[in-house]
Amino acid sequence: MPFSTLGLSVHIMRALHESGYTKPTPVQEKVIPLVLANHDILARAQTGSGKSASFVLPILEQWSKSKGEGKSKIKALILTPTRELTQQVAQTFETMGAFLPKQPKVVTVIGGEGIGDQLYAIQQGCDILVATSGRFLDVLKKKQMNLSYLEFFVLDEADKMLDLGFAEELELILQEIPLKRQNLLFSATYPPKMELIASKITTNPLHVTMEFEEPTVVSIHQRVIEVNHENRGPLLRHLLNSEKWEQVLVFMANKRAADNIAMKFKKYGFSADSFHGDLLQEDRTYTLEQFKAKKIRILFATDIAARGLDIDDITCVVNFDLPRSPADYIHRIGRTARAGKSGIAVSFISHEDQDHFVLIEKRSKIKLNREQIAGFELKGTPPPKVRGPEPVKGKGKSKKDKLREQASQNKGN
Ligand code: AMP
Repeated sequence: MPFSTLGLSVHIMRALHESGYTKPTPVQEKVIPLVLANHDILARAQTGSGKSASFVLPILEQWSKSKGEGKSKIKALILTPTRELTQQVAQTFETMGAFLPKQPKVVTVIGGEGIGDQLYAIQQGCDILVATSGRFLDVLKKKQMNLSYLEFFVLDEADKMLDLGFAEELELILQEIPLKRQNLLFSATYPPKMELIASKITTNPLHVTMEFEEPTVVSIHQRVIEVNHENRGPLLRHLLNSEKWEQVLVFMANKRAADNIAMKFKKYGFSADSFHGDLLQEDRTYTLEQFKAKKIRILFATDIAARGLDIDDITCVVNFDLPRSPADYIHRIGRTARAGKSGIAVSFISHEDQDHFVLIEKRSKIKLNREQIAGFELKGTPPPKVRGPEPVKGKGKSKKDKLREQASQNKGN
């Protein structure tokens, strides 16, 4: 099906043509007509599926036809979980709106940059506001922003925003925006908490799911290599040389590990860098640009920083440290094999990771062969399984405390 059947104006068609988009992706094919018909939507869509354009295009289309066009009133609010995704979505609005008779004013509101400048930009005139939820709330609390003209409310990668407290934050936002609006919610997964939030936001939403939900995952060659922890660095260097991977994204458990290993690899002559939430926003943007431009070959990243990364040419994703959850596994490996290309995902596991990886396999409904690489064979024996003492009721941390701890650790990454 070509884009021309979806009911988009010639101006947007021109932008699509200039961007080299020849036909809509499956999610775009389904979502665009529904948004144009003013429906609320709950879409199950992954990054890489073309989901951003599936809401950007119809919003621009509607915005360009609406009466208040050009009056610089905030008509669309898009919340995303990360700064990078915010910038990418804003960029998509700008690229796709470039040939409209009147171009929309798009403002991004993200942490790591001055809040005053952002408020000023909004007050100077803003049609489309793209923001990370945390910073958006900071701006909202300043009570200097008028959201009463809002027509579109979008949550992008909503499941990534679901830390503790988001539900309450959302209440604050909902109080400030008109009841009558169109709501679009995009999420890769729909856990019960997500459903609850969805029910608060949307009215009679249409559910959009893809027949082949994760088309990207099937084109990923997933490998599991057994190796002792202390041999992971040498093995990675060996594989980089022997397998000739070009752009490699390596996931690390935390910021310090990412910094340390990037430094080590640089010493060994690789073009490598680290990417995590502690870096200044301009450094993050710069590093990402260098990686996209292939001036950096290996990026050592934490989960939080890598969310929503829009890079099409990652040859290989390496789980140097395993992800905490099966959902993160799918999310990580989905960074490769984007835009119809194929990719490789390699997980390093040692004795102590076996159980955790089996759980990831079970939840992701996969079963992978274990490999060993000559010269880096797994040595030693699995540590004996010791059962901890029975928990004493009332003495341990409550479930809520544990979740809180986990959430603050995740935030710190
Ligand atoms: P997303 O899932 O929105 O992050 O998009 C993933 C990538 O696919 C981005 O780099 C988009 O520019 C690209 N893309 C989105 N839609 C299309 C399309 N219809 N044709 C070609 N590329 C697309």
